[in-house]
Amino acid sequence: MIPYGRQDLNSQDIDAVVDVLRSDFLTQGPVVRQFEKRLAEYVGSKRSVVTNSATSALHLGCLALGVAPGDVVWTSAISFVASANAARYCGAEVDFVDIEPETFNMSYVSLERKLKDAKDKGLELPKVVIPVAMAGQAADMREIFELSKVYGFKILEDASHALGATYQDYRVGSCQYSDITVFSFHPVKMITTGEGGACTTNNVELAGKLERLRSHGITRDVSEMENPKATPFYYEQLELGYNYRLTDFQSALGLSQLARLDDFVSERNTIAGRYSKMINQDWITKPRVCPGRTSSFHLYIIRVEDSAPSTRDEIFEAMRANGVMVNLHYIPIYRHPYYAHMGRYTKDDYPAAEDYYSKAISLPIFPGISSTELDIIVTALEGKLGHQTIF
Ligand SMILES: *Cc1c(COP(=O)(O)O)cnc(C)c1O
Repeated sequence: MIPYGRQDLNSQDIDAVVDVLRSDFLTQGPVVRQFEKRLAEYVGSKRSVVTNSATSALHLGCLALGVAPGDVVWTSAISFVASANAARYCGAEVDFVDIEPETFNMSYVSLERKLKDAKDKGLELPKVVIPVAMAGQAADMREIFELSKVYGFKILEDASHALGATYQDYRVGSCQYSDITVFSFHPVKMITTGEGGACTTNNVELAGKLERLRSHGITRDVSEMENPKATPFYYEQLELGYNYRLTDFQSALGLSQLARLDDFVSERNTIAGRYSKMINQDWITKPRVCPGRTSSFHLYIIRVEDSAPSTRDEIFEAMRANGVMVNLHYIPIYRHPYYAHMGRYTKDDYPAAEDYYSKAISLPIFPGISSTELDIIVTALEGKLGHQTIF
C-alpha cells in the first residue's frame, strides 16, 4: 500500500524528544520558546505562537481578530473543514468563496464580486477572510490584501499546507499580506509534532492575545492586570481562554524537524517534477505553480478531464484497489451535512469548486517515496493497468 502522505522521522528527531522526556519540563518549559523563536526566524515574522493543533490556532486566530456572534467569516469553498469550523466556534456565520480553477485557491475575482454584491445588497461584510494555501501554494495574497483595505476585513491565512513555500521573495508565514498565518504540524504536513500548529504574526499585541487565549485567558504580566499585585502567586484571568498548549517534547520534535524542512521541501519539489515528466496524457491536468511563487507540494493534485477514457471515480477506485491510496482534497465544505443543513449555501454559487470536486485526485507525495512507487502510481493512473485491480 502506498499512502498519500507520511511523516519522515530520523534518529536525531527521536533523540531530541527523548532528551526532553528526561528533562525537568514536559510542558510550559524552555523548548516551546525555542521552537517559537526558530519558527518566527524561519518564516520571517516578528512572533509565533505554537498550539496543540492548527485547528486550535485557527480558533485562536479568529478570537484574537475579534470574531464573535453576529460576525461573518469567509473562507475557501475547497478546504479542510477546520477553517470554517474555527469561525463557528466563535459563534460567527460562515460563507464560502469559489476557487480559482488552476491553483484551487480562493479566487480573488470571486471574492471581489462577492464583496461588491454583499455591499450593494447591504449584507454583512466579512470581519475575517481565511484564504487557504492549497496543496502548498499561497493564494493571490496581494490582491486579497488590496481588497481587505477597501472592504475592511482582516486576513487569517490558513497555510497548514505551505510551511517552506514562498510568495514574492517572502516565506509564507512572514505575514506580508496577512494579520495572522497558521501552520499545521500533523504527520501528513510539511513537518510534524504529532499533533500541533502555530500562528505567526508581525503584530506584537495580537501575539500577546494569542498567547493568553492559548492558556485559559490568564496573565501573569502585571502591566496587563486589573488589580495588579506584586505577589509571586498572583495571576488574573482576563477573558475566556483555552488550554491549547503544545508540549516541550513536541516542540523538541518540531525544532528538529524544522532543521530538515528545506530538505523536505526540495525533495517534494523533485517528486512533483518527476510526476510532471512521467504523466503524459492530455486528459490529465497537472498542478500549476504561479510565477513569483514556490510550492511546498504538501499535495500533488491532478484533474481528470472529461476526455479521460474512464471516469474520475473509476480511476480513483482502481488506484485504491491497486494499493495506491489516492485521496480527494477536499469535498466542498458547504456539501457537508453540518453546513448543508444550515440552508444558506447553493452549489450553483460555486461552479469552480463543483468542477474541481468532480475531477480532482491527490496522488501520493512524501519524502522517501521510491521510484518503484512512482512507477506503480503513474501506471495505475494512466490506465495501463486497465483501470482494474491487478496487484
Ligand atoms: C490539516 C489542516 C488543518 C488542520 O490541522 P490540524 O493541525 O490537524 O488541526 C487546517 N486547515 C487545513 C487546510 C489543513 O490541511
